Amino acid sequence: MATVAKLKVITTVSEIQSIVENLKRQGKSVGLVPTMGSLHEGHISLIRASVKENDCTVVTIFVNPTQFGPNEDFDRYPRNLKTDTEICQREHVQYIFAPSNTEMYSNKEDTYYVIPPEKYTSILCGKHRPGHFEGVATVVTKLFNIIPAQKAYFGQKDAQQLFIIKKLAKQLNIAIEIITCPIVREADNLAMSSRNLNLTEKQRTIAPKLFEALNSIKQGYSSGNKDFETLANIAKNEILDQYKQIRLEYLQAYDYENLQQIHTLKPDTLIAIAAKLGEVRLIDNIIIE
Ligand code: AMP
Repeated sequence: MATVAKLKVITTVSEIQSIVENLKRQGKSVGLVPTMGSLHEGHISLIRASVKENDCTVVTIFVNPTQFGPNEDFDRYPRNLKTDTEICQREHVQYIFAPSNTEMYSNKEDTYYVIPPEKYTSILCGKHRPGHFEGVATVVTKLFNIIPAQKAYFGQKDAQQLFIIKKLAKQLNIAIEIITCPIVREADNLAMSSRNLNLTEKQRTIAPKLFEALNSIKQGYSSGNKDFETLANIAKNEILDQYKQIRLEYLQAYDYENLQQIHTLKPDTLIAIAAKLGEVRLIDNIIIE
């Protein structure tokens, strides 16, 4: 795809809006990659997909306050704009949109929220993080309005988020194609996450057990056992319970078509896990094909 311009970091809504308007007027395709920054190979895979498929890529870097609960890690969330800029430059991104909190939300009292259906937000991560998906849906809708790209790229790593955003685009008639990118993992299969930076050395050695648990369920299914509870109990007993540092939040199976909990495994089942290691909350998932 043709390169449009050298990387620019834009901080105001009005400027990025006029840039995107101009690009579209010139007939250029725009790809949007929303992130909270502290970019790693997972984010880079989304960026590469966008750079490959579009004339111009806009990466947004915004640690969105409305998706963090009062006792969550908003303050501790890693921020590395300088390194992120270098990565984006190297990956041929044309624009970073990195607004301040006040640029995105002029004041708390005037914030309008996008509220996804409760059946999608009261389960899995939403159950443990009240208000999280309302914050995600709100910021993603704002970003879609600010940057009306042709395509937006999201990771399978955040499976519930991806489900909700796909529904959001459809239900709110947003003409942006949502592209799913597979989970990128470390060599020991830990799903890449900006939060991995906050793990201690010891916690880092234990963190891959989350994937191991998911994988053991998948293996059990491949060997013919379809009963999720049986397989989950084996994974808990043999893997997760061996490490007292792992505080399991959930290990559950959902039909990925409609996000309804299921107990008998079948194709297109999402098996999702969340656990805390110390103060660091990790999530991972696997889809049974
Ligand atoms: P975040 O910065 O954590 O909000 O993530 C921004 C985007 O990157 C989301 O669409 C995530 O699903 C995606 N992402 C984060 N980690 C990974 C990963 N390990 N593999 C693929 N995509 C990821």
